[in-house]
Amino acid sequence: MPETIDSALRQARARLAPGEAELLLAHVLGRDHGWLYAHGTDPLAPADAERFEALVARRVGGEPVAYLTGRRGFWTLDLQVGPDTLIPRPETERLVELALERIPADGPSRVADLGTGSGAIALAIASERPQARVVATDASPAALEVARTNAAEAGLANVELRQGDWFGPLAGERFDLVAGNPPYIAAGDPHLAQGDLRHEPAAALASGPDGLDDIRSIIAAAPAHLRPGGWLLLEHGHDQGAAVRALLREAGFEEVETATDLEQRDRVSLG
Ligand code: GLN
Repeated sequence: MPETIDSALRQARARLAPGEAELLLAHVLGRDHGWLYAHGTDPLAPADAERFEALVARRVGGEPVAYLTGRRGFWTLDLQVGPDTLIPRPETERLVELALERIPADGPSRVADLGTGSGAIALAIASERPQARVVATDASPAALEVARTNAAEAGLANVELRQGDWFGPLAGERFDLVAGNPPYIAAGDPHLAQGDLRHEPAAALASGPDGLDDIRSIIAAAPAHLRPGGWLLLEHGHDQGAAVRALLREAGFEEVETATDLEQRDRVSLG
């Protein structure tokens, strides 16, 4: 019997996490989920079956689904991602929520996203706050190319991309809100050698012996880049809340607090 869409999915599901088989087959066929379900009894062309099986095998071998499809949903956006960018995480959507609560919906503001990667944070904010001007920086030219594609695909003209480390390309400029999801894993943490992380750019993940090197330098430089009453929001590890709050207070921040993610773990500190 020739293979059908349903039978191919059934076999792949047994080897993958929930939802992954559908994402990979939809990608191979250039269709969406709804189409797959409506066409379950359609035969699967041998060439498509082969491409699907190759992707399933790579996934079983540990490659992240988002790198196999080249896409990842974040906020309301469908972003291009690749090995030059971190895969945006749901935790980071929490940071976007907290940022939007602090950016006026009905007036101009200046926002910075440090280490934008795929552009996730900057583009989500820019899409929700059309009157905001968002500047996004990244040290990696390859990541900025991905962010540029994503800005163009989303039709967002209120985002400006600049190459450089953290505040490097923002000399002398001040913002109403600065956000970032810098690398925050301790170098040598065994998690770096596991799961999706081992395929993602090390520079986007690890930051010194305690994981806080980049967060420390961002917090130290931030006051000179904030307008009076401005906010700094940084994502960090679930066990770094107290340390990041202490750094914020040392740098003179007020109203310092930590917000939790969907799993009720410390995830974003702000001041
Ligand atoms: N800002 C991007 C994101 O949140 C990239 C973060 C990073 O590379 N550390 O996905």
